[in-house]
Amino acid sequence: MPKDELSGERAITIGGHAVLAGARQTIDLPIADLYTHAKLALPVHVINSKRPGPTLFLTAAIHGDELNGVNIVRRVIKLPEIRHMRGCLIAVPIVNVFGLIQRTRYLPDRRDLNRSFPGNVKGSIAARLAHLVGTEIVVKADFGIDLHTAAVDRENLPQIRANLSDPEVLALAKAFGAPVLLDSPLRDGTLRQFAGEAGIRMLVYEAGEALRFD
Ligand SMILES: [Zn+2]
Repeated sequence: MPKDELSGERAITIGGHAVLAGARQTIDLPIADLYTHAKLALPVHVINSKRPGPTLFLTAAIHGDELNGVNIVRRVIKLPEIRHMRGCLIAVPIVNVFGLIQRTRYLPDRRDLNRSFPGNVKGSIAARLAHLVGTEIVVKADFGIDLHTAAVDRENLPQIRANLSDPEVLALAKAFGAPVLLDSPLRDGTLRQFAGEAGIRMLVYEAGEALRFD
């Protein structure tokens, strides 16, 4: 059963904010205080359809210099077709807000967010952000798509990386329409590993290069 059908009104609650069926809301989740005492927050767009269905999370820029996905998420949440969608979309255009501003893949101390899952509430900013994304985004969903690019000075052919031995994941990967599908092993500490262990089926999309809109 899709998770959003478990509650009577099909509200989805993110960071203590309930988004009712038929509602759309942007929620700022507090991540941590920076060493400047400035607050770091994670903006999350929740679009909850009136019509029941599964919940999908869509994340980009877990690596702060991987910009293509940022614009992909922004385009998706502006699509007119969203009005006819079933279920719920949890969209996070910039997961690593710190890295994006700094034009870097990493969080402070060169920590890689995509090696920091499941994270914890009292660790580094990377650990706290991983924990926040895991508990407030990933486990609220039935399916997920995480958008990446290659590292600096490299370019990735558009490709889906996923556990293709799972027939449902394979069907999702084919439907995505990327020219290449890779059956790729899990890496420790990644969002994909965390989601897999929580029973959430997901795709990673890799396309283009870092620090470039392509
Ligand atoms: Zn990446």
